[in-house]
Amino acid sequence: MNLLGLHHITAIAADPKTNLDFYTRVLGLRFVKKSVNQDDPGTYHLYYGDNVGSPGTALTFFPWQGLRRGRPGTGQAYATGFSIPAASLAYWQKRLADLKVATEPVETRFGDQVLAFVDPDGMRLELVATAEADPRAPAPSTDVPAEHGIRGFHSSTLALTDALPTATMLTKIMSYRLHAKEGHRARYTVAGGGPGTYVDLFTDPKLPRGLNGSGTVHHIAFRVADDAQHLAAHELLVTAGAHVSPVIDRAYFKSIYYREPAGVLFEIATDQPGFAIDESVETLGQKLSLPPRLETHRAEIEAALPKLD
Ligand code: ZN
Repeated sequence: MNLLGLHHITAIAADPKTNLDFYTRVLGLRFVKKSVNQDDPGTYHLYYGDNVGSPGTALTFFPWQGLRRGRPGTGQAYATGFSIPAASLAYWQKRLADLKVATEPVETRFGDQVLAFVDPDGMRLELVATAEADPRAPAPSTDVPAEHGIRGFHSSTLALTDALPTATMLTKIMSYRLHAKEGHRARYTVAGGGPGTYVDLFTDPKLPRGLNGSGTVHHIAFRVADDAQHLAAHELLVTAGAHVSPVIDRAYFKSIYYREPAGVLFEIATDQPGFAIDESVETLGQKLSLPPRLETHRAEIEAALPKLD
């Protein structure tokens, strides 16, 4: 399987406006797509990322107003890590303190400094201040200077009671390989490695059991270059006995879905065509983007969605 790393991560929020403010203004990500949940068009699907929402940078949310809060824990993608420059840790500590975002004590993990905090729904986020090379440019932002900006995902941490079945799927089917182990954490990587590829399997016995709800990750998606690699990945999963969905066209990428043995929902998504397929790069995220089959219902859909500004 020719995976290139993480593609996007999709999570659950409660209030869409609070979510939008936090990810664009506090974290300095770009709002690259305002769409709806294709299976529930009364709900937004909000996408944040770099300037174009490149694969490996796109964090997306389904905000369900009034949804009960979940609890990050085992059986879930427990924490989402972003890559920042090694020299930017102090900037972010001050910024988050100034903005009244409580942070945990800095942790050293595989030689990097990790600053952990939660978003307004309690979703676990980590800024990984890494000396590893990461040439990705952050989103242009009036809130966060470019030299300190988030460069995309660093890692996704899966919380597990037993890492072996998940590790076996990663390494035997998905071409991931063990990168390093430290304490209760084993880090896996794929392709050329580095920030944006890492999946950490975390088996701290103190972890609570995860509960679904706002503030938890819905699924994590891995990248493939093109349709041919996507079909090849699908075939490999079928051959391995995974219960994998048919290919679904999500307009901005094609997707297949399956669960890893601990129950975390995985997706494999194509790099193409990307978010600039239905609006220009300059105006990404400004208008409500709908898939063609929902376009005829635009007026009702827009009227039912909460206002974001
Ligand atoms: Zn997805």
